[in-house]
Amino acid sequence: MADEYRRIETKLVHSGEYPRYEGAVTTPIFQSAMFETYGGEGYHDIKYIRLNNTPNHDVLHKKLADVENAERALVASSGMAAITSTLLTLLHAGDHLLIQSTLYGGTDSFITDDIPGFGIEFDFIDPDDPGSWASKIKSNTKVIYVETISNPLIEVGDLKAVVEFAKANGLVSMIDNTFASPINYRPIEHGFDLSLHSCTKYLNGHSDIVGGAVIGGADLIARIKHKMDHLGCTLDPHACFLLQRGLKTLALRVRWQNESALRIAKFLEVHRSVGKVNYPGLESNLYYERARELFEGCGGMLSFEIAGDLGAVDRFMRKAKIPLIAPSLGGTESLLTRPAVTSHAGMSPADREKKGISDTLIRMSVGVESTDELIEDLDQALGG
Ligand SMILES: *Cc1c(COP(=O)(O)O)cnc(C)c1O
Repeated sequence: MADEYRRIETKLVHSGEYPRYEGAVTTPIFQSAMFETYGGEGYHDIKYIRLNNTPNHDVLHKKLADVENAERALVASSGMAAITSTLLTLLHAGDHLLIQSTLYGGTDSFITDDIPGFGIEFDFIDPDDPGSWASKIKSNTKVIYVETISNPLIEVGDLKAVVEFAKANGLVSMIDNTFASPINYRPIEHGFDLSLHSCTKYLNGHSDIVGGAVIGGADLIARIKHKMDHLGCTLDPHACFLLQRGLKTLALRVRWQNESALRIAKFLEVHRSVGKVNYPGLESNLYYERARELFEGCGGMLSFEIAGDLGAVDRFMRKAKIPLIAPSLGGTESLLTRPAVTSHAGMSPADREKKGISDTLIRMSVGVESTDELIEDLDQALGG
């Protein structure tokens, strides 16, 4: 059966699911490292878990490609596996990369600590200042890399300009779309070459696996698969099964989280114990117009400053009953972190201040609990 599902909700449930093995409504877990061959096949036709090509992988590849309206998709053992193997496919010794300066911590550390060892050069760019990019491009620049929404200040770069700049200069454009999810932004539809995800977050959505994905055109994905096969970026079949299950409810979860985060941001914005609130769905936000133009929703991630000292931050974190204090994001449970002592602890206080990450900044990943109850809880934790 050809995949002819038109709308994202239907694709999430049905794309890639055919054939139904023995009529099973959900794809079973194929816990088999290899599969019988019938002669004549080449290496890539051999089904073997390391090659990410068992029935559990095939379903995900078709579903993810269909959901972001791309030709092909590949899953990987983690978001970092997808990011690093893609960068190492596209860049070789002597090549140069332009990359956004505020990055997910793991990506930032890979770029600054590991990439130079491969003989690859890079320059950081401000994704909100397209005018400054031309002076950084070199004859050996091959790739431009951005994130849809940055952490922890929830900023939205000039994504349209990134696509135009990449096309004008013959660069491959890559975007880490983890924070937006395909419900709110589908990069391939907007002209990006490759969209990457940590499936650990919204795509799986239940905080119980680690996984990654890269989505794009057939030629690029074939090259990335070659690299992943050799680096061993395999997603285990059981994790595939859980990711497939999580994807079916992605639209329900993310739309709830969009609405809930917006209401929470509006509540926080006028609260006397709260300073600045960072959420692009707020009219007061610097990125409001851009987000309205680009996104179908602003997602479940927000951050805010407690108006007070570190003692006030401590009291708030201890008194909040519903959100857990834990890293990561995108699951059913609301989570709180303090970036200055977690994700950005490695940065010097001066650098943190330069980036606007204050010691009283709290990041919240809004889950799928009752919005009213979350607001009541935040209110009592902030001291009413
Ligand atoms: C979590 C995350 C990653 C890394 O994903 P893992 O699945 O933990 O390897 C990459 N980018 C963003 C934006 C993330 O939030």
